[in-house]
Amino acid sequence: MQPTADVVIIGGGIMGASTAYHLAARGCTNVVVLESGEMFGLGSTGLNAGGIRYQFATAVNIQLSTLSIGMMERFAAEMGQEVGLRRCGYLFLLDDAADLAQFTRNVALQNSLGVPSRVVSAREIAELAPEVELSGIIGGTWCPLDGLVDPNSLLQGYVSNARRLGVTLATGAEVTRVDVERGRVTRAHSKAGVVEAGKVVIAAGAWSARVGALAGIDIPIQPVRRQIAVTSAIPGLRKDFPFVIDFSQALYFHREGDGLLTGMSNRDEPPGFDTRVDEAWRLRHLEAAMARMPMLADAGVAAEWAGLYEVTPDDQPILGRVPAVDGLYVCAGFSGRGRMHGPAAGLLMAEEILDGRARTIDIDSLRWGRFEAGASVGEYNVV
Ligand SMILES: Cc1cc2nc3c(=O)[nH]c(=O)nc-3n(C[C@H](O)[C@H](O)[C@H](O)COP(=O)(O)OP(=O)(O)OC[C@H]3O[C@@H](n4cnc5c(N)ncnc54)[C@H](O)[C@@H]3O)c2cc1C
Repeated sequence: MQPTADVVIIGGGIMGASTAYHLAARGCTNVVVLESGEMFGLGSTGLNAGGIRYQFATAVNIQLSTLSIGMMERFAAEMGQEVGLRRCGYLFLLDDAADLAQFTRNVALQNSLGVPSRVVSAREIAELAPEVELSGIIGGTWCPLDGLVDPNSLLQGYVSNARRLGVTLATGAEVTRVDVERGRVTRAHSKAGVVEAGKVVIAAGAWSARVGALAGIDIPIQPVRRQIAVTSAIPGLRKDFPFVIDFSQALYFHREGDGLLTGMSNRDEPPGFDTRVDEAWRLRHLEAAMARMPMLADAGVAAEWAGLYEVTPDDQPILGRVPAVDGLYVCAGFSGRGRMHGPAAGLLMAEEILDGRARTIDIDSLRWGRFEAGASVGEYNVV
């Protein structure tokens, strides 16, 4: 392990890898990424559903999507890595008048930021997704530019390009201590060695509170289990089947190979690091999924897994410098949508570190300290 670096990044998921790449692309190559896993992508980044969408309720999340998805469009040309971007569209199904009113306001905000989303009636939903059973649904929203990206390709693209530019990316390097001396971060101790650095970024996803505690700070991010199932092939499932979300049940489907990927978030799931599949929830999920998507009755479950959302009190990420400790930064807490926002987040973190302030997008609403200041604006469109 090299003994010193300009920047140490703790965590080698999409946040850590994207930050490392964007630092190096700006010429800051004396960077070390310390990842506890034996491979990159064993955290949430390798376990997600692959969705990318512009359909959010806050301007900052729509801007993060616009910046990130633009980077994904250019990824193959700029990074030499295909990412399998597919614009299948996201179709939200709503069964509640208050949700429909909020989503109507969300669409107005999205449209004002250049996103071509629209409110759709139950009749239009039946035309967009005739496979879906629509009882109880009173309307929805649709954006044809939302879609999917291959979950691991982005990460691998950032890891390999950061390495090519001179960054050291170490696996098997769990950080066990972070030294802070006279209010300044000075070094990180890992199982692969100690690295002196005046700048340290905590990008440890659902584990960020644990890593923060090593540096004596209290990061409000909790791990929350989320699980997914992928079915065997479903004959007749069309290639352009959209990403469908039954919002009130937090139930979703999209095409995966020749079958469907489906997930349902348990909104009462207690925080914790358990990533075993919850059998009771699995049965509730599959029952709800078959009721909404009757063609599932003919499919088998080919794979299933659980991973962790990294959840903050307002479902918004924590980005930027930590005021209490000089040289310490956080890039975490994306509350279940970090794979789509990772490209933008890494660019913004590089600006924050090298220029003193992120500038491509105003991240003030995502900064440390918003909770104490009572200035937190939560994201409504959470699945
Ligand atoms: C089931 C599921 C579905 C999802 N679906 C979507 C989706 O459709 N679209 C989307 O955009 N997002 C989705 N997400 C969310 C997305 O996966 C995460 O927001 C994103 O991957 C977070 O990236 P990260 O880099 O912050 O965390 P991670 O990928 O978890 O990376 C953090 C890394 O830090 C490492 N680490 C932890 N502690 C230490 C330590 N002490 N020392 C060194 N390293 C350490 C971990 O090993 C890990 O690799 C989903 C998540 C789940 C679980």
